Amino acid sequence: MADPDDNYGKTNCIRCGDCCEPFIMEDEFVEQFRSRFQRPVLREQHFPSINAALVRTTDDKCVFLLQDNTCSVYESRPEFPCKMFGIPHYLECPKITPEGKMRSPQEYENIIAKNTDRSQWSDEFKKKLDELAEKRVEEVIRQQNEGR
Ligand code: SF4
Ligand code: SF4
Repeated sequence: MADPDDNYGKTNCIRCGDCCEPFIMEDEFVEQFRSRFQRPVLREQHFPSINAALVRTTDDKCVFLLQDNTCSVYESRPEFPCKMFGIPHYLECPKITPEGKMRSPQEYENIIAKNTDRSQWSDEFKKKLDELAEKRVEEVIRQQNEGR
């Protein structure tokens, strides 16, 4: 869900919940907020090499998405992907234009295709992802060192 309070300005998010799908999150995040799971879990996959997990739900929505399409971990939601939706320089909202107009089904499909096609991502977005990945790797190394 886009954050209407972010510094990126008004996003016109109507809280449809369409962008809140399962995503790879840190193991610690899953454990810290397991009690806030909102949906039946279909399967939980863990990737020990990167200390991350993917929690699949029966309706293929993010496990933290409440029935009213708000987020049960809103204050702590990760930067990627949660804070990047609805922001034109990062991932454009497929549902509604920056001016607040509903998109057609075709436009919706086009935006989804664009958001998932790396070759169409802006340099700014790729840089941001690289920074986040770098931070993640540093964190994994730190945890490994602490565990020695
Ligand atoms: S798809 Fe767009 S309108 Fe729907 S929750 Fe996400 S940012 Fe908001
Ligand atoms: S953590 Fe919250 S904002 Fe992020 S995808 Fe899940 S429900 Fe949406």
